[in-house]
Amino acid sequence: MLVALTEQQQLFQLNRSTPQEQLQALKKTAQFYCPQCKALLILKIGQIKIPHFAHVKKSDCDALFSEGESYAHLLGKQHLQELFQQLQLQPVLEPYLPAIQQRPDLLITKGTQKYAIEFQCSRLSPQKYQKRTEGYKDIQIMPMWIIQTPNEQFKSRGLTKLSINHTNAQYIQMYKNQKYLLSYDVHSRTFYYISNLLPIHGQQYFGYIQSIPLMKQLFPFFVPKKITENQFKGMLTRFLAYRFQYLHARLLLSRRGVNDTLLRAIYELKLTVSKLPNFIGIPLSNNEQSDIFCVEWQLQLFYFMERHQLTPQTFHLKAIPYFLEWSKMLENDDLLRAVTQYLMVLRKLEIETIHGEVPSEQLFSVLYEELFAIPA
Ligand SMILES: [Zn+2]
Repeated sequence: MLVALTEQQQLFQLNRSTPQEQLQALKKTAQFYCPQCKALLILKIGQIKIPHFAHVKKSDCDALFSEGESYAHLLGKQHLQELFQQLQLQPVLEPYLPAIQQRPDLLITKGTQKYAIEFQCSRLSPQKYQKRTEGYKDIQIMPMWIIQTPNEQFKSRGLTKLSINHTNAQYIQMYKNQKYLLSYDVHSRTFYYISNLLPIHGQQYFGYIQSIPLMKQLFPFFVPKKITENQFKGMLTRFLAYRFQYLHARLLLSRRGVNDTLLRAIYELKLTVSKLPNFIGIPLSNNEQSDIFCVEWQLQLFYFMERHQLTPQTFHLKAIPYFLEWSKMLENDDLLRAVTQYLMVLRKLEIETIHGEVPSEQLFSVLYEELFAIPA
C-alpha cells in the first residue's frame, strides 16, 4: 500500500517523486500504521520495487485490503492518481471505508457521485468480485473495475482471438456487468478495451480491442460501441472457418460409428455430414466456457425434439433440463442459458424443422441483433 497513518494519526502518502534519501530517513525515524487495522507497518524501499508499506506481521487485514502488491499494482495506482488529478476528480488513494470494511485503490468524485476505482492485478474469485461490487453499491458508490492487461493478445487492435481461462473467470462476470472489459497496461501506459466478446469454444473468444493512452482518457471513461455489421461479418467468417475445421477433424477422428452421438444424430435426422443446415453450430453469446462445441449440442437438441415430436416453437423452456439430462451433458447455468438463447434465435428465424432453410442474410441479421451486449 502507498498510504499509511503516522504516529500523529495523519495520513501519509508515498509519492513517486519522493527522493531516496528522504525515504531512508523516514524509515529510520518514523513509525507507520495501517489505516485499516492499525497494526505496525514497515516501509519497504528497494532499488527495483516501488517504495511501499507492508504489514510487519501477516494479518487478516491483508485479505481485506486488495492483494499481495505487485509492481504493476503499485505503479498503476500512481498512474491512475495522476490521471484523475489532471481531470480534477479529487482522487483519494486507498481510502478505508469503515461502513463496508473495504478499501478501494482510489476514490474519485464527479459532481455528487463518488466512484471506487479498483485496479485488479491478481486473481479474484467471481464471488469476491461480486461481493465487493455490491458493497460499494450499498453505500451509493459506483464501482469501476480496471484489470491489468493480461498478455500480448489483449494488446492487439481490432478483431482478435483471445483466450480467457478459468483462472480469470471474474473477467466474464465483469464483462457481463459492464458490457466490456477495461484493462490498463502500466508498461505502455495505455488502456486496452475488450468489447463485443463472442465465445468460440471452451476458453476461446473473439473480441474487439481498442486502446487509449493514459493521459488521453476522459471521465466518464470512454465506452466502446457495438461492432459494425462489416466487422461482425469478419468475425462470423472466422467463426465459420473454425466450425468447418472442427467438423472435419471430428469426423476424421471418429471411429465409433453409430455409437458416436454426433454421427448418430446426423444419421437419425437424415442429414449429410458435409451439408449441415446453417443454423446448426451457430455462435451464441451465452455459450461460455463450454467444452462441448455448439455444433454438438445444437444437433442433439434437434435430435431430442424430433424424438419427442417437438419444434423450436413448441419446446418449453422449462424442459431444457430434461434435454440436458437426456443428452448426458452436464447441467450448468451457462449451458442452460445457451440452450435458451438458441431456442430464442430459432424462433426468431421461424424454424420449424431441421430440414427448413434459412437465407444467410436473415441468419446474419438475427445474430447481429442478438449476440452483442452493447446496443448499437
Ligand atoms: Zn492492516
